[in-house]
Amino acid sequence: MTTTTAMVIGGGIAGPVAAMALRRAGVEAVVYEAYSGTADGVGGGLSIAPNGLDALEVIGAREAVERIGTPIEGMVMQSWTGKRLGEFGSPAHLPAMQFVWRDELYRALYDEAVRQGITVEHGKRLVDATDTGDGVRVSFADGTTARADILIGADGIRSTVRGLLDPAAPRPRYAGLLGFGARTSSSGLPGTGGRMHMVFGKRAFFGYQIEDDSSGGWFANLPRREPMTRAEAVSAGADEWLRVLRDAFADDRTPATRLIELTDPAGLVITGALEDIPTVPVWSRGRMVLIGDAAHPTSPSSGQGASLAIESAVELARCLRDLPHDQAFAAYERARRSRVERIIALAARTNSDKAAGPVARVLRDLLMPTAMRLAKPEKFTWQFEHHIEWTSPAAVPA
Ligand SMILES: Cc1cc2nc3c(=O)[nH]c(=O)nc-3n(C[C@H](O)[C@H](O)[C@H](O)COP(=O)(O)OP(=O)(O)OC[C@H]3O[C@@H](n4cnc5c(N)ncnc54)[C@H](O)[C@@H]3O)c2cc1C
Repeated sequence: MTTTTAMVIGGGIAGPVAAMALRRAGVEAVVYEAYSGTADGVGGGLSIAPNGLDALEVIGAREAVERIGTPIEGMVMQSWTGKRLGEFGSPAHLPAMQFVWRDELYRALYDEAVRQGITVEHGKRLVDATDTGDGVRVSFADGTTARADILIGADGIRSTVRGLLDPAAPRPRYAGLLGFGARTSSSGLPGTGGRMHMVFGKRAFFGYQIEDDSSGGWFANLPRREPMTRAEAVSAGADEWLRVLRDAFADDRTPATRLIELTDPAGLVITGALEDIPTVPVWSRGRMVLIGDAAHPTSPSSGQGASLAIESAVELARCLRDLPHDQAFAAYERARRSRVERIIALAARTNSDKAAGPVARVLRDLLMPTAMRLAKPEKFTWQFEHHIEWTSPAAVPA
């Protein structure tokens, strides 16, 4: 039986994209978001990779995202001494990555979804779901209920739907790093030529990009053995974190301390613990399925979290267009699982370099220049070249 209606839980990135893609696939989807409004002013920077842009093209949302993005022409890797270790970027035959502020991305996708006729209901926190055999019935914290043929969990790394599908599902794993970031309006620093600089600092990792008008942004990953919830990190206060970060980067010969000094405490984004889940064993059960961070949460070090969420949303819609839901869920998982888990594993390796202790750090600093010299950017092209053949029919899984 074909799927005609869907409930999408979560109005972040994967949710609105899934609803727009489903509409093109002939499935009417409503998005239910827990928060009462869009995430204006919340969250740091994200990159949308060429593969994410390619998937957005399918749903006609690429332009909306590029409008709010700043192209990243390359990523310059540096050591804390200021030494340039190497440069990576989108392969020449692909478009540049786009740097976007998370809240602006959410707003752009929300606006585009509404423009395309999608209903997004805010203040709807899913608390329970029941597969009734011929559909799914959900209840929200506000006491209301809803029903549709299928349920799509796009509710992020702390997914409620994941727990309903599989009560034994693994919990997010701490990467040993806390995340911070901020925008800068006028740093007085020279522009970085459209390049994001990534510095393996002596005590912490620092990324920054400065535009020609000296505005820009930075982010930092601070090693910390004990995990901390976002609420705990926020309660420590922005002034205190800016002091800690200034100390952490004091020895580095980079603009880190200057950018931190220029940061207004009110503008400091405290992301909290960097987390991932290497593998989420159950992606679907009955009429319920997971996408985005709910299915494959990768730490921000991959630079692919948002792009993978977009890809999965579009791929699932393609499968639902051509197959009954059970076959569609299996075909979708087969198309996605190995790719996303490979990227999660690569990011976990980067996190170990970022969180290196004193001994490992010495080794890292010794070996990295050679490793970078020998590293072939082509080795990473597979991440960026991924393309969803939207018009070709989804195959019945073996
Ligand atoms: C607060 C926050 C800050 C982040 N900051 C950064 C950053 O600075 N840099 C970076 O690289 N990555 C960041 N990320 C991660 C990155 O945004 C994700 O990889 C990407 O957003 C994945 O998209 P998604 O749609 O799967 O999940 P999300 O974007 O997390 O969206 C999930 C949505 O589901 C909603 N939701 C959750 N539970 C329920 C429920 N029970 N019922 C209804 N709705 C629900 C949430 O409110 C949210 O809007 C952040 C994520 C969050 C949540």
